[in-house]
Amino acid sequence: MELVTHDLASLPDLNEEIILNFLKVRYTADIIYTYIGDILLAINPFKELSIYDTKMHKLCTNLNQDAPPHVYALADFAYECLKNSSYKSQCCVISGESGAGKTESAKHFINHLIYLCLGNTRLELQILQVNPLLEAFGNATTLMNDNSSRFGKYIELSFHNNKVVGAKISEYLLEKSRVVFQNIGENNFHIFYYLLVGLECQSDKYYLTNKNGDHLEFNYLNYFCPNKISSKNLRLDLMEKYDQLINALNYVAFLENEQTDLFAALIGILHVGNLEFKSNDEGYATFIYSENTDYSLMAIYELLGINTGALIEALTASLPTAGGRDEFIRNHTLEAALDARDALAKHVYSRLFYWIVSKINNTLSYDKSEKSASSIKEIGILDIYGFEHFQKNSFEQLCINLANEQIQYFFNKHIFSLEKEEYGREGINSIAITFNDNQPLLELFMGPSGMLKKLDDLCKLPRANDLTLIQNFNKDFSKNSNYIPSKRSELNFTINHYAGKVTYTGENFLEKNRDSLPFRVSELLKNSSNDIISEIFSNGSTPQNTIYSSYTVCTIRNIDKNSNRLSVSAQYRNSLEILMKRMSESRPIFLRCIKPNSSKRPDDFNEKFVLLQLRYCGVLETIRIRREGFSLRPTFQEFVDRYKYLSPDSFVKYDSHTCKKILETNNLNNWRVGKSKVFLKYYHYEKLKVILDEY
Ligand code: ATP
Ligand code: MG
Repeated sequence: MELVTHDLASLPDLNEEIILNFLKVRYTADIIYTYIGDILLAINPFKELSIYDTKMHKLCTNLNQDAPPHVYALADFAYECLKNSSYKSQCCVISGESGAGKTESAKHFINHLIYLCLGNTRLELQILQVNPLLEAFGNATTLMNDNSSRFGKYIELSFHNNKVVGAKISEYLLEKSRVVFQNIGENNFHIFYYLLVGLECQSDKYYLTNKNGDHLEFNYLNYFCPNKISSKNLRLDLMEKYDQLINALNYVAFLENEQTDLFAALIGILHVGNLEFKSNDEGYATFIYSENTDYSLMAIYELLGINTGALIEALTASLPTAGGRDEFIRNHTLEAALDARDALAKHVYSRLFYWIVSKINNTLSYDKSEKSASSIKEIGILDIYGFEHFQKNSFEQLCINLANEQIQYFFNKHIFSLEKEEYGREGINSIAITFNDNQPLLELFMGPSGMLKKLDDLCKLPRANDLTLIQNFNKDFSKNSNYIPSKRSELNFTINHYAGKVTYTGENFLEKNRDSLPFRVSELLKNSSNDIISEIFSNGSTPQNTIYSSYTVCTIRNIDKNSNRLSVSAQYRNSLEILMKRMSESRPIFLRCIKPNSSKRPDDFNEKFVLLQLRYCGVLETIRIRREGFSLRPTFQEFVDRYKYLSPDSFVKYDSHTCKKILETNNLNNWRVGKSKVFLKYYHYEKLKVILDEY
């Protein structure tokens, strides 16, 4: 087996075994990148490789033919297209399951683009600082990945005269439920652990120790506390991450007082999690006053800047209609009080996250009045959370997997559907293009009477609950081959995703989709003395209508008239639609990340595990299409201009006749000539080059 063959599509024989073996041999030799035609495959090494140094940066420039398959070479290709072609925008779509290496690849891709620009500007350094910042707030340890992205992001870099002039981040549905609950073996967002260690020397200011000077333990962190860290390395690591965070915040122009307010708000959230309630004889929630909860109330007053007496009232009882003053107060059950408490924490955290992203965007934006829109070109990089399949899968996994379905659909459309269309247009009918089309599944969810619409409809009915939702699903969708009702539990249902079957539990679907925050609680936050909190809860600064400027169009269309708010799934659907539209207007570049094993181990290539990923994401089919199909399609003019010297006739025209003549005279086979283009296989290019060189 040759290691020098870098392109799977160029292997003489092809079956699953050969492909797997080919990838395994390369992987064993620490060669993690391989091309399939113009798609780059990356297999996670789970160890540091010395392939991201200046030498490699240098090698991957100006489309150097000696450059190996590499994420840098992919970025170089995008940059060359930006410089030389008429593409206004390109997008690099990075896909793969959780832990496959998408976020790392995105970082390498951006690093190399910045290297190629060689501007050494402050802006470039700021762009590089964005990642540690976003990861601190948006990533967490999960069972599948120690640094798992819990939000999707699309980073657009804007170029003017081949230099970066600005950047913009769009983020997608942060998994905010993680703030209040994590599965066994998983953690909360990284930021909380960094702060507990980093702010140790300011523990009085941030209420991190009690009156006796003991470290507090926080319910939302599963009682993690710094003095329980047994490993010295972990403590050092957290301290280092804290220092990096401060550095990044300073770089991206977060002022000192903003940092103080931000940290106060975050620790405030942890104290909210320590508020305790019990049920009284009448079945209503009452607050449990104790030394600990008293202390947390004090902390909340100082850190979140809200009146805690009013807070307890707002968490234990609500007004029947939003804003109604003279109506009866409705007491909460214990469950409702705990839900209200957790809703507060989730809303504060997610709005802080949006606030951070919008601040970053302000810093990285460029003066549009100075540069005409037509002279700006863009490269976008999409890095979302990977496909997830746990033992228990909830609303969050459904949203995550839905986004992955969208990306798969986009991939299919480009690799297969558009290919098919072009063959049809040009009158070429030589190869059968079959692929696992997931459009019916997207219809099942997003269609006008699909599952998400049903979910939204039920959210508006006060009597509906999770069980009635699943019953409705079963009634409406069980004829759909992608929907399988559960025989085991009436709250479960199974979806046949492109990447395999996943069983979801409908538990809390309605509440998670409504994502409501009691009116009185949001009023308290609006009047907070913490400047950031009052800003993010003031009118008009909800994530839906200010921070995502691109949302505004859809907000008007989809607004829920009763509550004046969009449901989570409606918001998500809109943002995915916008993303897909933006991406389909760009030239796509695909990077497929593969996980070699499920235990995050280096040097362990699990063939079955890899094969499954290759199969479901269409890699095998892509290889076949790339081989049987025609990867090169010059127009008649491009072809004749380049190869006219090989024509037997001295007079050439830009037509099919001339093209055919050139190909026939030079004894090439298996090409096709369409109505406006010549269709060549990848090996024709090499042959023609040799003939031309000899000429
Ligand atoms: P998720 O969907 O959960 O966000 P992901 O696909 O973004 O997953 P990453 O966070 O990029 O996965 O990668 C997981 C881990 O794998 C990294 O933290 C790192 O340890 C390792 N890893 C990924 N890519 C590389 C690489 N090119 N070189 C070395 N290690 C890598
Ligand atoms: Mg990631």
